[in-house]
Amino acid sequence: MKKVFNYSPNFDLNKRISKQIKFLIFHYTGMRKETDAINKLTNIRYEVSTHYLIKKNGDIVVMVPDLYVAWHAGKSSWKSFKSLNKNSIGIEISNPGHEHDYINFSKKQIKSILYLSKSLIKKYKIKSGNVLGHSDIAPFRKKDPGEKFPWRYMAKFGIGKWHSLSNKILKENRLKIININEEKNFFINLFNIGYSKKVFNKKTLVKAFQRRFRQELINGKIDQECLLISQNLAKKLS
Ligand SMILES: [Zn+2]
Repeated sequence: MKKVFNYSPNFDLNKRISKQIKFLIFHYTGMRKETDAINKLTNIRYEVSTHYLIKKNGDIVVMVPDLYVAWHAGKSSWKSFKSLNKNSIGIEISNPGHEHDYINFSKKQIKSILYLSKSLIKKYKIKSGNVLGHSDIAPFRKKDPGEKFPWRYMAKFGIGKWHSLSNKILKENRLKIININEEKNFFINLFNIGYSKKVFNKKTLVKAFQRRFRQELINGKIDQECLLISQNLAKKLS
């Protein structure tokens, strides 16, 4: 893996202090061609950027220095935080995304994500619960990095939270129906984990939760498995 520099003009001019960096946010680029994504993120006309971009070959492109606010999150929220750009570092991962041909992240990309995340988490003392996907903080607008992002594997290294339920328990509860009270509890758990309390569309929020924490089946329906996972995480994160 190489580190290369390709600076973007799209960032806030005011420099921040390192204490303001509390979140790490993962994205996919969502474009067919990697070079198009790099061009867009470094073009002043598009008004978008990221701190880092991970290429398919694992190379890390530095676009905005950590202490400047890059424009990657947009309208977003997590717990009491709003508009997360000012408090976060953005990492874009090259992948065509759901709108094109959503593909597995490459081994080289995963290796670079691990290396980069570990060093940023250590440097800025980012809590594991504050390592998130774009769809976590903007569930009604975004699907990235999506259900192919290896969250379970990353959590082994303190990169993002994961539940502690066994595969047996998970499978036994998949597709088992829930009642109205359990549905209410599910959403309360989601708010306690950090998801937005403004629910514009229940099914979309359930899908965002599944892309992150129940990647085997993204159907937008709350079942006993989703409920158990949400309970387990709500206890851990609060
Ligand atoms: Zn994104």
